[in-house]
Amino acid sequence: MPKSEIRSEGEPRRCRCGYAKGDGMVVEEPRYSFGGTLALLFGITARPIAVRYQCRKCGQVLEESTDPAVLTARHD
Ligand SMILES: [Zn+2]
Repeated sequence: MPKSEIRSEGEPRRCRCGYAKGDGMVVEEPRYSFGGTLALLFGITARPIAVRYQCRKCGQVLEESTDPAVLTARHD
């Protein structure tokens, strides 16, 4: 089996216009549960259920993270 067919670890996923997580064009968009959305409406900070990394230019979602460490970091 050729080595090139194995997806290398650490290779960032890129959207169709070539941006990867960490680039200025890729924004973190927290997703909230229904209850979390309600809490936000009342001015209470809620912990997101997931964080999406989305390209602002083409709108492609590169990654969705539900890692508790990531979510807690978003909760401030
Ligand atoms: Zn893009």
